[in-house]
Amino acid sequence: MPSSRGCSTGPVTATMNDKFKDECGVFGIVGHPEAAKLAYLGLYALQHRGQESGGIVSSDGLKLRAERGMGHVADIFGEDVLARLTGSSAIGHVRYSTAGESRLANAQPLLIECVHGEVAVCHNGNLVNQRELREWLTSQGAIFQTSSDTEVFLHLYAHSRARAGEEALIEAVAQAQGAFSLLFLLRDRLIAVRDPHGFRPMALGRLGDGWVVASETCAMDLIGATYERDVEPGEVLIIGPDGLKSVKPFPRAAISHCIFEHVYFARPDSLVFGQSVNEVRTNLGRLLAREAAVPADVVVPVPDSGVCASVGYAEMSGVPLQFGLIRNHYVGRTFIEPRQSIRHFGVKVKLNPVRSILDGRRVVLIDDSLVRGTTSRKLVKMIKAAGAKEVHVRISCPPTVSPCFYGIDTPRRSDLIAATHTLDEIRRYIEADSLQYLSLEGLLRAVADRADQYCTSCYTGNYPVPFPRDEAQYLQLPLALDTRGQIDR
Ligand code: SF4
Repeated sequence: MPSSRGCSTGPVTATMNDKFKDECGVFGIVGHPEAAKLAYLGLYALQHRGQESGGIVSSDGLKLRAERGMGHVADIFGEDVLARLTGSSAIGHVRYSTAGESRLANAQPLLIECVHGEVAVCHNGNLVNQRELREWLTSQGAIFQTSSDTEVFLHLYAHSRARAGEEALIEAVAQAQGAFSLLFLLRDRLIAVRDPHGFRPMALGRLGDGWVVASETCAMDLIGATYERDVEPGEVLIIGPDGLKSVKPFPRAAISHCIFEHVYFARPDSLVFGQSVNEVRTNLGRLLAREAAVPADVVVPVPDSGVCASVGYAEMSGVPLQFGLIRNHYVGRTFIEPRQSIRHFGVKVKLNPVRSILDGRRVVLIDDSLVRGTTSRKLVKMIKAAGAKEVHVRISCPPTVSPCFYGIDTPRRSDLIAATHTLDEIRRYIEADSLQYLSLEGLLRAVADRADQYCTSCYTGNYPVPFPRDEAQYLQLPLALDTRGQIDR
């Protein structure tokens, strides 16, 4: 069984995380006298998409100014820092590193000055051809300052012989393949670009006479902006002195929105790909109950990730929903573990069972995903230790069997428990009385008439955009499965 940093009992420090990692969030604003302050608030709302670093670049029409730092938005930006970010337009970014190390040099937005003038960029997604582009650029004399794939865009831009900044940007972006929702800030304009497949979300809103662009609409709600529409796949939006201009310079491609945004990443109060995340996520729970209901006394969500699906499951099954696990919201990413081991310590720091809800009950435990299984195993044990008679685990998406190459940090395939073990082996490993996942058909039904516009590669292994051959190692399985039923090594 692959080990998890989160549930190890050996080391002195431990973390609890058995999820795909969040990716990045972008926010941009044009035409507001307090652009940087609103960018700060927008990033605050997008903090769930990345907690390693954050940054804002503003423009006063003459000069771009950048402030970036490691950690959470609230820790990076004080009044004094924001006061330095003058001007009426700004872009900002929160980052979880999916490509490149976690260090300040990789924090975004990146800002350079080149033959086309000053430009800043921030990026949500992952390029599949970044290595080839990087090698070519290096052979042309480019010197990279970061290990992030986002820097590739800046070098391509600087190398472009196009005369206008806009043309040079489009020429640069056209060479990239993979997933990218990008914001560029020039002295007098903001340019938003979404890849032709539309992997990662990006929405457009209005705030008075100004414009706002953000990964999720929850960032607009906080600042009182109104959602207008999504930036369309393959669209380049130029927002500058002449207002808003839209061009579609790239060849059309099949739409492949990341369905995991609805399953797990995005906030339920957001609209993503034009659909309410809460609605889709609650639907996943309803469909899960329709496919895999089990006689039980209580539905218990894994907080916060399983809450929406639990509401749907309880509504459809008629089994009451109760919060049998309480989350401590003040836990950092790591914590000190005592040398004298405490039972279920790693998971208990974050979640504690409510004995009066669980004792003597048949429990349906609902979560939104099961990646390595280590956290589910701890939770089932903990709920049983609190007196539950039975624990039935229900997962509101299909088994995750393949890694992501489009901007989500996933383990390699050999570390995904569903890629290497049967349903019953997983059930025995997590020590549940039963285990069921939502089917792929159910998942697609939850996004209704747009089912053909979603990427589902991590559930199917069918990839809409080819990835580099040397990354095929991520798809390799172990040579033999452990068939003894004793999966926990
Ligand atoms: S592979 Fe999975 S996580 Fe990655 S873009 Fe596709 S649906 Fe999203």
